[in-house]
Amino acid sequence: MINELFSNPLILWYEQNKRDLPWRTTTDPYYIWLSEIILQQTRVAQGQSYYEDFVNSYPSVHDLAQAEEEEVLRKWQGLGYYSRARNLHFTAKYISEELNGVFPDTYDNIVKLKGVGEYTAAAIASFSFNEDVAVLDGNVYRVLSRYFGEKADISASKSKKFFQKLAQEALPQGQADIYNQAIMEFGALHCKPQNPYCALCPVQTSCYAFDKGEQENFPVKTKKIKIKKRYFHYVILEQEGKFYLNKRVKKGIWQNLYDFFLVEHKKELNTEELMKELIQEQVPIANAKVVKQGEQYKHVLSHQHIFAQFWHIQLENTNFNKQGLELFSYKEVEELPKPILIANHFSEFFEE
Ligand code: SF4
Repeated sequence: MINELFSNPLILWYEQNKRDLPWRTTTDPYYIWLSEIILQQTRVAQGQSYYEDFVNSYPSVHDLAQAEEEEVLRKWQGLGYYSRARNLHFTAKYISEELNGVFPDTYDNIVKLKGVGEYTAAAIASFSFNEDVAVLDGNVYRVLSRYFGEKADISASKSKKFFQKLAQEALPQGQADIYNQAIMEFGALHCKPQNPYCALCPVQTSCYAFDKGEQENFPVKTKKIKIKKRYFHYVILEQEGKFYLNKRVKKGIWQNLYDFFLVEHKKELNTEELMKELIQEQVPIANAKVVKQGEQYKHVLSHQHIFAQFWHIQLENTNFNKQGLELFSYKEVEELPKPILIANHFSEFFEE
């Protein structure tokens, strides 16, 4: 019954309305994996060019495994959540070296790979191997909760099991590859968070939310994300035409990416306060020249808002030596993997 009323109409809808996307023309698990990792937390329009670049640069898992991590991070620049790129590279090496380049072919083995969660494992297992395992992502939660009128709070961990069971029941056996794509595409394009196209919906007559006029009430999500505010004061220290940068080796945002000398403070600092901080940090600014001070930028991440401001300071020729800082030429700075905040700012700062 559920197939007739819900799953089959979604498959039919998908066949008529799906977007033409490059990863939909392949079942190669390596390409599916690349696309799924790139598309996590990323819009399709933005992810597509990254996917094409990765496929062209690394046509096989061995090619990706042999690349330097810095090169992979540089290619990832602008996509955010850089742990995805580090894990991608780690896992490529593992598959290339330990599994002879053969991608695991069952959900249970795929989910053991580093950086691959339950959703991604289900996507690869179904799209590549047609294993009967249902995907559960934000789109699927929305479609299922609206259609079935399920009010379980999706931010509560116990609800996940419940929805996973429901998703599995709705999956028509033997058609996991197309059905999983169908329900996700339907959520992304048709049963959208705002203004779903209920008037033209193929499952409208049996949809709970439509019947009750409660589309906006689903899915139920009570827990709000706590946003932390951080104040970053970036000092572009220049010495004889070269720039000091630091590789962020600690765990946290932007690990293994490069940024400028950073003074983080619990509040926004003015130039005078910043100079005091620099003296405390033993930056030799006595005869330095503040060339430029930029505007404040707000950089939005999922759990934090970063308020960043840049100062460009020319140091005298000095023996400034601070742990972690290294000098790079302008061209080298351009080629290093950097958070997009730094990359954009660096080129804009010196363009004018
Ligand atoms: Fe979504 Fe509206 Fe269709 Fe229900 S009728 S599944 S709310 S688009």
